[in-house]
Amino acid sequence: MTDSTAMHCVPGLPGQIDAFEFARRGRSQAGVFSVHRLQRLLDGLADQPSVELVALDEAPKDPGLVRYVLIGQLNASGRPQLVLRVQAKLLLECQRCLGPMVLSVDRQTAFDLVRREADLGEESFDEDSLDEPEKIVGSRQFEVLDLIEDELILEVPYVPRHEQCTDMVETGSDDSEDDSGEERPSPFAVLEQLKTKR
Ligand SMILES: [Zn+2]
Repeated sequence: MTDSTAMHCVPGLPGQIDAFEFARRGRSQAGVFSVHRLQRLLDGLADQPSVELVALDEAPKDPGLVRYVLIGQLNASGRPQLVLRVQAKLLLECQRCLGPMVLSVDRQTAFDLVRREADLGEESFDEDSLDEPEKIVGSRQFEVLDLIEDELILEVPYVPRHEQCTDMVETGSDDSEDDSGEERPSPFAVLEQLKTKR
């Protein structure tokens, strides 16, 4: 497969493609755009920063941008296929400490194109089918943006959490066996000191 990291990346939203022709002719396109264009994704996220479309080759190294590479090709059995790589950094809110966390997404998926819903077949969960490409219905007005958004939505965890909450604020009302209480002056002790100084 083409090395997708080396592809020229242009700013702007992906438009519609003729999915079958795109695959048959082995076309490819790459681009970068603001995450603010993905309304369905944003509905489930914290506020994302607005960033300028700069340093395209490295984008997105900061939250706010989505980079994609779409490659059309024929699969091993000669059927049209789209390979989509999506890279983004999404800002999430950790559900344990409520602090911000950055989710790095770098997802590549191969989709076999079919003509009709009926050709999608039954979703199969056999182990053999795990490595098989997903199937999607292609069209002559195929919305690449929707596919990119779907891929990003799949990456967002249902309950985002830091692996380790470093800035976690101790609430004090927990029942942990924390014996550091002796070292910290209690607020009442501090009050006592203030009183005696008067
Ligand atoms: Zn956290």
